[in-house]
Formats: sequence, C-alpha cells, structure tokens
Amino acid sequence: MLLKNCKIVKDSKIIKGDILIDDNGRIKKIAKDIKVDDESIDIKNCFVLPGVVDAHVHFRYGEGEKEDFLSGSLAAINGGVCFAIDMPNNKPPITTKDLFYKKLEDCKRYSKINIFLNFGVTENNYLEIIKDAKAYKIFMVKSVGDLFIEDYSKLKDILNQNKLFCIHAEHKDIIKENMEKYPLNSWIDHCKIRDEKSEVEAVKEVIKNLKVIDKLNDKKPHIHFCHISTKKALYLIKKARQELKNIKITVEATPHHIYLNKKMAEELKGFGKFNPPLRDKEDNIALIKGIINKDVDIIASDHAPHLLEDKLKDVKNCPSGIPGIETILPLTLNLVNKNLISLFDATRVLSENPAKIFNINNKIEEGNLANLTIVDLKKEGKIDAELFKSKAKFSPFNKWEVKGLPIYTVVNGYIYEAYGYEY
Ligand SMILES: [Zn+2]
Repeated sequence: MLLKNCKIVKDSKIIKGDILIDDNGRIKKIAKDIKVDDESIDIKNCFVLPGVVDAHVHFRYGEGEKEDFLSGSLAAINGGVCFAIDMPNNKPPITTKDLFYKKLEDCKRYSKINIFLNFGVTENNYLEIIKDAKAYKIFMVKSVGDLFIEDYSKLKDILNQNKLFCIHAEHKDIIKENMEKYPLNSWIDHCKIRDEKSEVEAVKEVIKNLKVIDKLNDKKPHIHFCHISTKKALYLIKKARQELKNIKITVEATPHHIYLNKKMAEELKGFGKFNPPLRDKEDNIALIKGIINKDVDIIASDHAPHLLEDKLKDVKNCPSGIPGIETILPLTLNLVNKNLISLFDATRVLSENPAKIFNINNKIEEGNLANLTIVDLKKEGKIDAELFKSKAKFSPFNKWEVKGLPIYTVVNGYIYEAYGYEY
C-alpha cells in the first residue's frame, strides 16, 4: 500500500513525501514520488502523525455491557488512536500475575489496535514484577476492592523501586472530611467533595516521599501523575521536577479538564461527573499553558465508559467517568485551530511523549510497523456521540463543533477510515 502526498510530522518538522507499506505492515520506504505498482491512497497533503497513544483508558474488562476490548479498540480507530494503555481497576482488580496474564490473553484475542496493560498496586503486592506490564497503577483513593493504597506511610517503600508508576492522586482523608461537609445534593457538591485541596495534598504526599527516595539514591522510580487537573498541583510538580535528581516525573492532562469547568456542572449533570472533578477556568488555562511550556507531558482521555442509564441518574447514584477515546484527538486538534497550541505541541503530547514515557515504538521510520494517525487539520465537524463506536454513546462534548479530524487510522499496516463525525 502506498500513501501518496503525506505531510509527515516528525521531530518538530514537516516532511513531504510518500509512505510505502509492505505486506507485513511495515514501512518499507519514505521518499518523494515513490513509483510502484501497488494500491495507493492520495493523502492530499494531510498531516501524518506518529500513531496516537491514549495512555489512560478503561476498556472495562469483564463488564462487557459497558465496553470490551473489541468495542474499545474500534472506538480508538474511529478516534485516530493506534495504541492504548488499559487500567487495572476491573472486577476483580488486576492485582495478581495470573489475572494480569489472563487479561492480556483476552486483550490480544479481541483487540484491533495495540493495547497494553497496567498492573494494579496494592499494599501487599507492590514488590511483584510483571514483565509485560507497561506501568504500575497506584490509586490513592478507593477504586475496586483492595486496589487502593490506604496507608500512605507505605508509599515510601512502594515507590522506592525501579518501576514506572502511574498515580491517581486524590487524598483520601481530604475527600472524607469534605464528605461530612457536603451532602452531595447537587452536581457542584461532587466538585466540592473532591476539591482542589484533595489533589494538591495527594501530590504533596507523593513528592514528600520522592524527596526521601531521591536522597537515598538507591532506586530510580519514574512517577507519572495521571489526570492532573489543578494549577496548584501542576506548579508543585514543576518545582519537584527541578529539585529531584534521580527521579523522573511526568504529567498527564485530559481534554475534559482542559475544556470544561465548574461553571458547567449543573448544566452537564452526569456527563460532567468524573474524578478528579470539574475545576475552575484558571485551571483550564493553566493546563493549556502547561502543554506549551512542557509542564504537561501528555494528553490522555481517561476513557471511562458507563451505561447511559446510569449516567442519567441523580448525583448520588451517577458513576464517575466519561468516554473520551473518540474525542481526544479532535479536541486536541481543535486547540491547534484555536491557536492555543501548535501542531507540534499536539503531536508531542499525543504521540511522541507518551511513546517515550511508556516505551512504545510509533516512529515513522523505515522498518517499523506502520502505526499512523492521519488528520485533516482543516476539516470541520460536529461531535456526535450517537455515532461513537464505544458502547458509551454520550459525551459532554456532544454536538460541539470542532475543527481538525482524523481521516485514517493505520494500525500495524492496516488502514482504517476514521469517521463518526458529521461532516
Ligand atoms: Zn482512569
């Protein structure tokens, strides 16, 4: 297969040329005006990005009514995503080697994209080494079963390892205190219970331990903070990154924390309920600035499907989380078209940095498997949740007009049309 007239985005440069993909799905040649007797698609000077990585998804293994590896991966393809990293908060949580490998086997059987798995850390299993895990996920607040570090005094020992940890940083005690103050009668109460302080204090708790580990200078953990949502936490992490010598820290943000805020809580109702919750306008702005000045390393969707009927329940009974894998790329490209970030910023946070952090090869190079996200930066469309391939056909961004859409998703050499938006 020959992709003609590509504008390849690579290392903050744009290279014009054709991409030839061989029958094994590998990039055989990148050059101008390749002439071969092969099927070809005219890319018409659209941008070709290294395959987008969504480093934070919940494909709901074992809860097929909400999502599964097939529907999740079809949703990924629809949204221009070639790689996804799935979280371990399943029922039961993925906290043993056996559960991990059973899940990996099922994942490989049903998935249409490249899916990797994170292993769930508990107070008892934290020394376990899972060769095939992309990272080790730590929840500082209750998730499923015992997949939760309740005793923060154990964090030092847990984090003092040569591992990549993804941390959900919300402080359990602050949330508990707030729950006594706010009875959860309105949507904004959810934001008050899981307030800014709960994120800031959790981040502080982690950094406090990292400083001790850094001084010990024995192990070199890499800490990846999931879905950072506040300006304050972002600032604390920025400072810690400058101070710590042996420890790498990276930061993830989500499109919903970039675009949405508390003012929209009552209007969005259940579609605005997720954890961490809606924040303030100034936090939206801080996250966008963070992308530009590289304090934010990646954008991930935290794709968290639920049954629509559950998301329509009242605030007490509505589960937290929204689907996002089909909107992560259009919403990020939309920031480019609004002149808030550059195309190179977008490529860095969606493709290059997640690949570096999680050791994924999505480079557009001869010899590599072709994993490409092809986008039409000028194409406008309306997000239509009913057309999602995810089983969760709702979104806080439903009916939003966006500019910049995926047109093809190439996964291991297979070319799929990306669609699902009204044109
Ligand atoms: Zn999550």
